Amino acid sequence: MEEIRCLIVGGGPAGYTAAIYASRANLSPVLYEGIQPGGQLTTTTDIENFPGFENGIGGQSLMDAMQQQARRLGADIRRGIVVKADLSSRPFSIETDNGDRILAETLIIATGATARYLGLESETRFRGMGVSACATCDGFFYRNRDVAVVGGGDTACEEASYLAGICRKVYMIVRRDVLRASPAMQKRIFETPNIEILWNCNTEEVLGDLSGVTGARLCRKDGGIFDIAVDGFFLAIGHHPNSEVFSEWVETDAEGYIVTDGRTSRTNVEGVFAAGDVQDPLYRQAVTAAASGCRAALDAEKFLNSLK
Ligand code: NDP
Repeated sequence: MEEIRCLIVGGGPAGYTAAIYASRANLSPVLYEGIQPGGQLTTTTDIENFPGFENGIGGQSLMDAMQQQARRLGADIRRGIVVKADLSSRPFSIETDNGDRILAETLIIATGATARYLGLESETRFRGMGVSACATCDGFFYRNRDVAVVGGGDTACEEASYLAGICRKVYMIVRRDVLRASPAMQKRIFETPNIEILWNCNTEEVLGDLSGVTGARLCRKDGGIFDIAVDGFFLAIGHHPNSEVFSEWVETDAEGYIVTDGRTSRTNVEGVFAAGDVQDPLYRQAVTAAASGCRAALDAEKFLNSLK
């Protein structure tokens, strides 16, 4: 079995940044990229709020650059998903979907978060046939057609705004009478003529036929039911943290976010650290994820030094 000093799980801004710092600290880190190498940023368009890029940068380009930087500094970056973890004693034992078995002195969990769905049977039936949680991945298929976006947060507004540039009309299905999104984002939505907000509405059913989604049945707060005709139905109602594989050992909150100790990345298990969206229900930004990846690598280095 392979024995290493530092294992990083997750290939997003937190994981790659941890790999950059851990490499420079001579921890010879191994990083498994997980289901979505590059993380959530690979499903967005331009990132305008990551410092250092005057004119913004594409999400995929930013992640490619972080990955290359970590590699150049010596990180061993691998494809693979961690499917089993035994954190009962150190070194921690980890298994991946491709059969790798690793013993690691320290573990940095940076597995991020995944998009939430409404949980409707019809939504599952039409997933990939008009139902999507990623406008930048799938918006292209709905050029000059009508689509709906569920949610009223920054993600929903960003998705709706992106789709408005491609589609004929974008409905936003918002369950309250306010948007949760930042004022700047709201302004952008209100000023886009082909976005219509359907306030106080919940989705009862995604409608469709053999060719895919044809519409959605909505229920207003006052009880009124009505249908809209759309070809694409996009979910943007938040995320859930990818902590399941470690949750037997590591303390999580009610929503599954890993609990860390104060300003550090330390979890309740000595030698296990958490970084990025898997431990951050609040900020969930690329730059905050990257910063917490840095903290986790520094904490891992300090922990290893304390064993000497
Ligand atoms: P949020 O949790 O902020 O918003 C989720 C939205 O979905 C809310 O409007 C919520 O409604 C709605 N919602 C949740 N569950 C349901 C449901 N079952 N049915 C209908 N609607 C539902 O998630 P986001 O992904 O938008 O944002 C996450 C974080 O990332 C935020 O902090 C955000 O600011 C940040 N972000 C920042 C960006 C940027 O700065 N460029 C871009 C994208 C995200 P309700 O309001 O009623 O709870």
